[in-house]
Amino acid sequence: METRREQIIKMLRNSDRFISAEQIARSLDVKDVRSIYSDIQHIAKTIRSLSGGKEIVIMDPPRCRKCGFVFKNMKHLGKPGRCPKCKSTWIEPARFKINSRR
Ligand SMILES: [Zn+2]
Repeated sequence: METRREQIIKMLRNSDRFISAEQIARSLDVKDVRSIYSDIQHIAKTIRSLSGGKEIVIMDPPRCRKCGFVFKNMKHLGKPGRCPKCKSTWIEPARFKINSRR
C-alpha cells in the first residue's frame, strides 16, 4: 500500500508532461486540492535528498489566461485567485513534474 505522497511522486515521475495539482487530485479522487499542493511542497523538499540530488520537482508557474501574466514569485504554492495585472480570475494553474539529472 502506497502513501498518497508516494503515488504523487510516481505520477510526477512517470509523466512526460507537466501535470497540475487539479489533475492529480482528480486521478487520486481527492476532494481538497490544497492538500495536494502541500503534498507537492513536501515532495519538492524531500525528493532531492531521497535521490541524492538527482531528482528535482520543477514547476511551470501559473499564468493568466487573459493577459499572459506569469506568477513567478509565489510565497505559497496554490492557485492564485486573480491576476495582479488585469484582475482576471481566469488563471491557468501551476503544473509540475519531476526532472532527473543523469
Ligand atoms: Zn491577467
